[in-house]
Amino acid sequence: MSENPKDMRREPWRASVLTLFPDAFPGVLEASIIGGAEKSGIWQLETVDIRDFSVNRHRTVDSPPAGGGPGMVLKPDVAAKAIDSVVTDTGRPLIYLTPRGKPLTQQRVRELASGEGLIAFCGRFEGLDERVIEGRQMEEVSIGDFVLAGGEVAAQVMIEACVRLLPGVLGDAQSASEESFEDGLLEYPLYTKPREFEGRAIPEVLLSGDHKKIEQWRRQQSEDITKARRPDMWTAYKNGDDHECD
Ligand code: SAM
Repeated sequence: MSENPKDMRREPWRASVLTLFPDAFPGVLEASIIGGAEKSGIWQLETVDIRDFSVNRHRTVDSPPAGGGPGMVLKPDVAAKAIDSVVTDTGRPLIYLTPRGKPLTQQRVRELASGEGLIAFCGRFEGLDERVIEGRQMEEVSIGDFVLAGGEVAAQVMIEACVRLLPGVLGDAQSASEESFEDGLLEYPLYTKPREFEGRAIPEVLLSGDHKKIEQWRRQQSEDITKARRPDMWTAYKNGDDHECD
């Protein structure tokens, strides 16, 4: 982590997570540089147990969907009370993790990281009553085109992506500037010692010491990989869409 005081923010970036499974946190957020950054006060994590806001003695949080169908729905009264206990300011976006949300991108991650923090609502069962999503003007975010059992892992993905961009979290040696998505392309292949591994050699150009050639080779690799794996990104890149992938 950087020791440079200029890199340090004054107020910690704050993540509040509403969940039925607070024991799932900090989870992976405790590990490595992300956990270290929390310990050094760069960011803070708070969990709120949605079940604490149940209005009956059975601590019920769900009921069957209106109109019938499978599964259960998170009750709006319980969810709204839980949300209102946390949303005391307008400085942080209130995000509902859901597969039908807008896909999370590195650009949105950068925006979230540059703000005061975020409030994440983790769904369970079939999801959350629509009236809370509308009434609390929740931003719906998906971490990909697949369905998880709950929003907890999705919230951890989003928070980890943000925290690693906070000033002072990545050291100089781990700069985020050359990573996938930063210039609208996927990353070039990486190699390290030994020079030969299982009959495969490090490409000669990377050992040449010729920085211009290395840069050209990496750019070409990035372009070829992006073209082959992400035609959507490649088209956006060629069109000069701000050199962003979303
Ligand atoms: N019935 C929902 C649907 O068809 O869109 C899926 C509900 S899923 C079983 C339960 C919860 O997991 C969701 O409310 C959401 O919070 C979370 N979840 C599942 N997949 C997710 C994804 N790809 N991105 C973000 N959250 C997800």
